Amino acid sequence: MTTEFDYDLFVIGAGSGGVRAARMAASKGKKVAVAEERYLGGTCVNVGCVPKKLFVYASQFPELFHASAGFGWTVPQQPTLDWATLRDNKTAEIERLNGIYNNLIDNSGADLFDGRATVAGANLVSVNGKTYKARTILVATGGWPYIPEFPGSEHALSSNEMFFLDKLPNKAVVVGGGYIAVEFAGILNGLGVETHLVYRGPKLLKSFDVEMGDKIMQGMVDKGVNIHLNTEVNQITKTDEQLSVILNNGSDLEAGLVLYATGRQANTAGLGLETTNVVMRDNGSIQVDKYFATAEPSIYALGDVIDRVQLTPVAIQEAMVLVDHLFGDSSATIDYRDIPTAVFCQPEFGTVGLSEEQAREEYKDIAIYLSDFKPMLQTLGGGTERITMKLVVDEESDIVLGCHMVGEHAAEIIQGMGIALKAGATKAHFDATVGIHPSAAEEFVTMREKTR
Ligand code: NDP
Repeated sequence: MTTEFDYDLFVIGAGSGGVRAARMAASKGKKVAVAEERYLGGTCVNVGCVPKKLFVYASQFPELFHASAGFGWTVPQQPTLDWATLRDNKTAEIERLNGIYNNLIDNSGADLFDGRATVAGANLVSVNGKTYKARTILVATGGWPYIPEFPGSEHALSSNEMFFLDKLPNKAVVVGGGYIAVEFAGILNGLGVETHLVYRGPKLLKSFDVEMGDKIMQGMVDKGVNIHLNTEVNQITKTDEQLSVILNNGSDLEAGLVLYATGRQANTAGLGLETTNVVMRDNGSIQVDKYFATAEPSIYALGDVIDRVQLTPVAIQEAMVLVDHLFGDSSATIDYRDIPTAVFCQPEFGTVGLSEEQAREEYKDIAIYLSDFKPMLQTLGGGTERITMKLVVDEESDIVLGCHMVGEHAAEIIQGMGIALKAGATKAHFDATVGIHPSAAEEFVTMREKTR
């Protein structure tokens, strides 16, 4: 570094992508700063993936209590939940993780600024009343929940607040049909809250394989979630402690809580980017090229703020590519195809590769292998949950294009399938793989008969 600059890299935002970029750059001997105004670890650690998964675990216990009877256990007829214990234990765990993030940054040698940083020019970042010169600036400020404006929208909560509720309501309305809506519908339902999911479209999780979306919806209904499709909210009114959600079909739902899970928007407002040549889309997200460079040569952006794929592991991989580009040999690349992902709804969903619908658009001859069965836990447990697995295969090359699963441990199983698809595995490779018995996963290597 020449003395012209205070830092080689100034990262704004200590979420998954920002921290990884800072640490990697510092490990290459670069002078790095990270500024964070809110919480270390970003959305994922604080109000996203991590606390969400803890809540998912909590919400699964009633079904396990129920299943345990068939295995000879006696549990109280009405096990009870102490919400405050769950919420506070979750918060303590998140604070532990915040500390780990702090140590990671410290140990990397990067300087951490606790404050809101803004861009003051192509090579200038202001934070806590001082302005620093940076050779490169990385904007990794993530996203923020979006709630549309309508009469009474001020009464709606976003996912951010769901992690800190004073108490659980008896009844809740969740609006949306994407990841967060279906995940929170499952959590609330499992925790004993009468849950209504209101979605404006005809199918939940519309960007995924349609058949799997249908299975998820059926599974959610079987578990007790009330799903209102093709339905919109006109208004929310508040009376004492209750909210009344007035729907466009003329009916209304009384609830103690209304969660809007209607997408997330890039965190770029007031960041000072208008002082530079950085180009933003109408929704506030930042346009970048394949190396995450903005239209301002010294400024880069990655993660949720670029609105490509809003997933933590993707932001982390983007950070690796960026640091390699800036300070390495520029050989690292990111491939946005075949990204495995899971939705922690109940039943759980894991998926990688093309849906049947996408495959039929892109390829001439597609074979579908489908298996639907009762998981072993339920043979004695007596629950309703099933497992559905699906392989989408290109008939011409025999390559497996898509691998989808609804049911217990789907995320864990699909992670491995992601490696297979990345390696270009054919159906013949799947068939030649020995199963692990007894497991649900073995079904993926024993599907011999084409379903269609
Ligand atoms: P999504 O984009 O997944 O879903 C948003 C939903 O809100 C859609 O069903 C959309 O409907 C609906 N919607 C949007 N605007 C309105 C409106 N004005 N009125 C009514 N409904 C509306 O966003 P999420 O908020 O669920 O999650 C954000 C992102 O975070 C996800 O896309 C995902 O990338 C990430 N995430 C990942 C998780 C994981 O990995 N397990 C968990 C949670 C989040 P329509 O489809 O009709 O447009």
